Amino acid sequence: MKLFDFREDAAFNQLKQRMGAAEAGHFVSFDPEHQLTFGEREALAAASVDISAGAVRILKDRTIALKNSRVWVEGGGKIHIANCADVIQLRNQLRIMVSTRNPEKTLSICPECLAELKYLGLDGRKSRRLSEQLDELFSMEQFRQDYPFYPVNG
Ligand SMILES: [Zn+2]
Repeated sequence: MKLFDFREDAAFNQLKQRMGAAEAGHFVSFDPEHQLTFGEREALAAASVDISAGAVRILKDRTIALKNSRVWVEGGGKIHIANCADVIQLRNQLRIMVSTRNPEKTLSICPECLAELKYLGLDGRKSRRLSEQLDELFSMEQFRQDYPFYPVNG
């Protein structure tokens, strides 16, 4: 008996190509508990998403993550990018708002977060002194380049 060799089947190979699967055994293992789904990533890129505060974790570099993506936290009209005192408080509540999108101009960057990361060369004193200009200094696009959002491990 000759087994059918599906690797030579035109329909199968077309399907494989459409799926972007290079090898016959090519597959991507996916763990929805630790990895964002495509839908979750889309939602985070579009708006602030209300999630269980317990799902948020703090990375070694003090930035904030949800599963395998960095996120920023929206709270009190501010953009939080690190585990500042406000974020610690927000994480003690049941729900928290997180996002990966470019924030609206109505939100201001949190000076404590910038100091926490010493981002843009800021420490606590400098960031207080410059607080008026911080929104001009801070760019989410630049931050995303300095701290790539997706994917992150650890
Ligand atoms: Zn903050």
